[in-house]
Amino acid sequence: MALLAALVLAVVAVALVAAPFLRPEPAPEPEADAFEGSVADLEHRKLEAYAAIRDAEMDFRMGKLSPADYETIKSKYTGQAIQALAALDHAEPAPASPPSGDAAPADIEIRFCPDCGTRRPDKARFCPSCGRGLRAAA
Ligand SMILES: [Zn+2]
Repeated sequence: MALLAALVLAVVAVALVAAPFLRPEPAPEPEADAFEGSVADLEHRKLEAYAAIRDAEMDFRMGKLSPADYETIKSKYTGQAIQALAALDHAEPAPASPPSGDAAPADIEIRFCPDCGTRRPDKARFCPSCGRGLRAAA
């Protein structure tokens, strides 16, 4: 039982320590305003952060960085990448959505004969009364 409690405590402790790194705080909305740069600038910031994280990871694996330094650099650039991504969400124009509703159908339905006013039977090509062609001009 004591072993189980110790195990649970250990897991909780590890989770608490690892949580900030595994699940970084999302950038709060107002901070997106700090990035007034263009989309290209933001992309640059994001890629720069990714590169820095990758470099730090490599240095860490090669023993050039202490774990503490590595975590500091990683969390710093992870924050930068997240902020850049959040700002990109704001900066990038919404993808062009297809227009809702029918915008000017190519084939305009003629429901009544323009000459005599007779109601056009469904799919009729000519007015049953006066013989006028009822196809929309193609
Ligand atoms: Zn007609």
